[in-house]
Amino acid sequence: MDPVEIAAAPDAGPGPAWQSKCPWGTPNTTSMSCSLADVMSEQLAKELQLEEENAVFPEVVAVTEGPFITGDNVDTSSDLMLAQMLQMEFDREYDAQLRREEKKINGDSKVSISFENYRKVHPYDSDSSEDEVDWQDTRHDPYRADKPTTTPRKGFIGKGKDITTKHDEVVCGRKNTARMENFAPEFQVGDGIGMDLKLSNQVFNALKQHAYSEERRSARLHEKKEHSTAEKAVDPKTRLLLYKMVNGGLLETITGCISTGKESVVFHAYGGKSATEEKEIPAECAIKVFKTTLNEFKNRDKYIKDDYRFKDRFSKLNPRKVIRMWAEKEMHNLKRMQNAGIPCPEVVILKKHVLVMSFIGQDQVPAPKLKDVTLSSEDMRKAYYQILNMMQQLYKECNLVHADLSEYNMLWHDGKVWLIDVSQSVEPTHPHGLEFLFRDCRNVSQFFQKVGVAEALNERELFNAVSGLNITADSEVDFQAKIEALEKVNEDHVQKQGKKLSMFPSNGDPPIYDE
Ligand code: ADP
Ligand code: MN
Repeated sequence: MDPVEIAAAPDAGPGPAWQSKCPWGTPNTTSMSCSLADVMSEQLAKELQLEEENAVFPEVVAVTEGPFITGDNVDTSSDLMLAQMLQMEFDREYDAQLRREEKKINGDSKVSISFENYRKVHPYDSDSSEDEVDWQDTRHDPYRADKPTTTPRKGFIGKGKDITTKHDEVVCGRKNTARMENFAPEFQVGDGIGMDLKLSNQVFNALKQHAYSEERRSARLHEKKEHSTAEKAVDPKTRLLLYKMVNGGLLETITGCISTGKESVVFHAYGGKSATEEKEIPAECAIKVFKTTLNEFKNRDKYIKDDYRFKDRFSKLNPRKVIRMWAEKEMHNLKRMQNAGIPCPEVVILKKHVLVMSFIGQDQVPAPKLKDVTLSSEDMRKAYYQILNMMQQLYKECNLVHADLSEYNMLWHDGKVWLIDVSQSVEPTHPHGLEFLFRDCRNVSQFFQKVGVAEALNERELFNAVSGLNITADSEVDFQAKIEALEKVNEDHVQKQGKKLSMFPSNGDPPIYDE
């Protein structure tokens, strides 16, 4: 274990309440006062050089090595994470022991036996996790006769009474026993071969399954470890971007990580001084770093490639630039919301795939998500009406559909609901815009019905109330079909006209859906 991990361990487990409130563990003043410049200066020189040289996207580096999260700030709240770290450590020790045994067995012999495949921390681990180790077929089978007795295509050998099929119990049983030797070394199988033990297929398969899942378990842990570091990671280019923001005075300090999601990592920072003095930088900021690992964004393409605002650019861009567009999209959408007076983070600055905005929360503690907050029924009712209002404003004034609206993306702060996470928000005329809206409505009405707000409209009523459309339908399926039909009408119109049909007549009233 490296020192960082050891230092982190004692903080583990359920701590006092204030600790669980603070998602990046113990706020440690000493670590925070450590200037970014001190830690980074040497590294920076290297990175500046790297920045220009690296044509290939640089390797992901864990933030834990970086300046923002020092050893004390490593997230130790997760027991799972700790368990995994421990397991990794055991695995590493196990491998070391294996190496010693390998050495002892091989000695000076010219022929050596490799224990490679029994290793837990496999040297090719990063891409071996998906490799199924087909040990059963590739290892030597001691029961194989000198003359190979392969079972022919027809599936049997011999004649009449002496016929032996591949299912022959005795042969098969012995083979199974022999194959057991191929289980990993720690899997105690005893001297089955010496005893001429015949294992039935059923028993063998059960054992094999067990041995196999043990191996997979270790592979899975490695995978998780990979992910957990990747989740907390920003690549060198991003770190440089963040460093520049601190160095330039835009940010005072970056204190820690608020959230790691599939597509983004969010940090907390204290705001610095604005260069222009025109606009004050918020005292506390949230930095949303859109992940530059591309996989997760692939399935979100539909949100952006059909958004006409980005359509022309989308096709010409490489995937990394598309990710910047996500950040840009979030910025544009937040600005629209800001203009409409919807409570949401205020954009501070956008740099490539890094969006700095005002922090919703206080003293490094982010505002709770609506799903996590306990509200009086009166407050819950107020929250509901506020959301209904915001959804209407979003649709009518901002010309947007949130498209990921749920109790996860609504924060409760200052006695009201704040909307966040709008990178995927689209205009209602998006080819799937109304479907997204319907999904939003479903999430919202289900949540408020669950928490017992009696006034909460059902999803269809909410959809009509927000969109101003007047869709009537006998069933949910029917309703959805009508939504899709409406989208299709719009698409067809676009095809013919070459431009988007506005969902809004010039008088600003939403159209009435006419059957
Ligand atoms: P994701 O796409 O990962 O869901 P979000 O924008 O929802 O990204 O951010 C993830 C989490 O980070 C949020 O659930 C919230 O807890 C926190 N967060 C994001 N932006 C802010 C902000 N401006 N202020 C406070 N917390 C924020
Ligand atoms: Mn979110």
